[in-house]
Amino acid sequence: MVTILSYSERADLQLELASLANELISKLGGGVSVSALIGYNVKGNADMLSKYFDRVFIIDSENLKLFDLSNYVSALMEVVNKVKPDIILVSGNRRGGAVASALSAVLDVGCVTEVVKVEVINNDVITYRSAYGGLGQARTRVLTTPKIIAVKPGAYQRSTVTKNGTVEELKVDLKKSEIELVDMKPKEAGVKLNEADIVVVAGRGVKKREDLQMLDELAKILGGVLGCSRPLSADLGWFPNWVGMSGVTIKPRLYIGIGVSGQIQHVAGIRDSKIIVAINIDPNAPIFEYVDYGIVGDLYKVVPKLIDELKKIRQR
Ligand SMILES: Cc1cc2nc3c(=O)[nH]c(=O)nc-3n(C[C@H](O)[C@H](O)[C@H](O)COP(=O)(O)OP(=O)(O)OC[C@H]3O[C@@H](n4cnc5c(N)ncnc54)[C@H](O)[C@@H]3O)c2cc1C
Repeated sequence: MVTILSYSERADLQLELASLANELISKLGGGVSVSALIGYNVKGNADMLSKYFDRVFIIDSENLKLFDLSNYVSALMEVVNKVKPDIILVSGNRRGGAVASALSAVLDVGCVTEVVKVEVINNDVITYRSAYGGLGQARTRVLTTPKIIAVKPGAYQRSTVTKNGTVEELKVDLKKSEIELVDMKPKEAGVKLNEADIVVVAGRGVKKREDLQMLDELAKILGGVLGCSRPLSADLGWFPNWVGMSGVTIKPRLYIGIGVSGQIQHVAGIRDSKIIVAINIDPNAPIFEYVDYGIVGDLYKVVPKLIDELKKIRQR
């Protein structure tokens, strides 16, 4: 019987971890899934989590209002000491990654991050992550107990298996945070690319920011959303985030890359899309190696034509 503890500060990612926890429990011959709900004013999520985990532990404290890593790890350690997990799953988002690595140092156990798949082979838990900038895949086995696995957001679907878990609150003495919040500005809200069914992605082939309107129109006609490759976000600042290995992993029903060359770091984040379409002026662009449908042409000619045709179809 294994005990699998899951932690993320985000409820949606907890549900992705619940999926993996259930899968591992069934492959490892049974066990218990535990969720750690840690933060300030977070109790409201406990009932929801108890529908997906066997046990939920709440640690709710004003000293967890700010993301003070040492307090978060102390709180999580309380749950670790209580349930003695064999496996600790942490969401591999920014905060989760920090918690996973700090926890592994405190526990002095092995930790693998950016995991996209976990398998059980001969009762061994094998993790997969991208290596060499997406050119290879690393298979890793953590030898310690517990083992910490930080799972990339979006790698697993949210759990749909419902449970009737217990909820327990733990009181932990946490020190007053040593961090003071001076100012906070909301980040420009981006669309949830990893939840969209259809994603149109703009690449460096788009010459001007205003030209994105045309691609956005195409995305909207198709009922999808507009995303971008890394240079449009990281270098040009046209979008808050990007698609790919170091950005958001997407698995939409339809991906359309427009003016995207298809470098491996980009492809690593889109290769599980059901249908891949690319529009590129260069017939030798690497993206064409991965497409189901490729259009060789100037995006400034092809996209307006596509929009016109789609509008005609809609009017029929
Ligand atoms: C560690 C690391 C992580 C990275 N992570 C990511 C990541 O997560 N996501 C990501 O996207 N990148 C990532 N990159 C960057 C990646 O290597 C590429 O540089 C990037 O994907 C290129 O973006 P692009 O295809 O938009 O631009 P380019 O490579 O410049 O390609 C532009 C394409 O547009 C085409 N084009 C030009 N004009 C037109 C036109 N008029 N009509 C049609 N096509 C046209 C060109 O033929 C070309 O193929 C990463 C790099 C590193 C080193």
